[in-house]
Amino acid sequence: MSEKGHAVALFSGGLDSALAVLLILRQNIKVTALTFMTHFGCDITDKSSCAQDSSDMSEKFGFTVKMVHLGHQFVEIVKNPKYGHGKNMNPCIDCRILMLRQAKQFMDTVGADFIFTGEVIGQRPMSQRRPQLDTVLRDSELAGKLVRPLSAKLLPPTEPELSGLLDREKLERISGRSRKRQMELARELGLEDYPSPAGGCLLTDVGYSRRLRDLLNYKPDVDFDDLNLLKVGRHFRLDENTKIVSGRNEEENNKIERYRKNGEWMFEAKDTGSPITLLKGELTEASIQAAAAITARYCRLKNNPEVKISYFRDGDEDHNITVAPESEIMLNQRRI
Ligand code: SF4
Repeated sequence: MSEKGHAVALFSGGLDSALAVLLILRQNIKVTALTFMTHFGCDITDKSSCAQDSSDMSEKFGFTVKMVHLGHQFVEIVKNPKYGHGKNMNPCIDCRILMLRQAKQFMDTVGADFIFTGEVIGQRPMSQRRPQLDTVLRDSELAGKLVRPLSAKLLPPTEPELSGLLDREKLERISGRSRKRQMELARELGLEDYPSPAGGCLLTDVGYSRRLRDLLNYKPDVDFDDLNLLKVGRHFRLDENTKIVSGRNEEENNKIERYRKNGEWMFEAKDTGSPITLLKGELTEASIQAAAAITARYCRLKNNPEVKISYFRDGDEDHNITVAPESEIMLNQRRI
């Protein structure tokens, strides 16, 4: 049977967006699903992600998934969201609007009929209450074209429902946080493997948000390496121009080396288990002392009264300093 129309989905790969896709496919409508990625985690290559690898699902049910990276526009929104941040640095309402605007452009380009999402009224505190859903609809300029199949019967009919392209009776009336109806629906629609609900991207994480606020406060002009560096290591602030980042394991040490900028100094206790510690800022007597003491505190020789620490950067010979491991009080004062 040939398809009646073409719809574009906002698709994280989670249960709700997967069910929304299946409800639309069931009505014999072709689906192209857009999975958005940002530098803050919703990325299938990242374990902290709220997006999930959906290739098996798309193959099984017959729809196409396209990955779209929101890049720097999303960073600008995180810095200054029109509708504010949620509990942490997550600008969920602005984020949804940006994703929908991108989806609208895609819909216009490919000549699709409407857009849909897996949103459920009342499920998430910030972005899925009815007034917020209305704001998102207005600002994305999708009036009449945005379908929320899981809550459709609780919302005004959209253009595809009014034109008969979509049968409203076959859509759902789910609201609130319970997932009971979603589980039932998953069984009905043959969706066996679905991920447990994810909490959101890294911007909903307290620690990451604290480090991001600090970074934006002292260095508003961030680049992607700066943002990635916030995901790894222990972070300490010395003063407005100086920050220290110390790895917690080999994987983090490698990432710190990867995200550092040319000319930045690194500290290490050689010939023993040691973090790589990155000094972001000027090399002064005070910053050398602090970065070395932090390295000593987290290396295998941390119980020694003094530890020899090397510091180095590309093209320069190593320098050495012997310091006492940093005290807990000082660490707590400087920890971001
Ligand atoms: S948690 Fe909020 S800010 Fe993060 S990706 Fe999801 S909607 Fe966007």
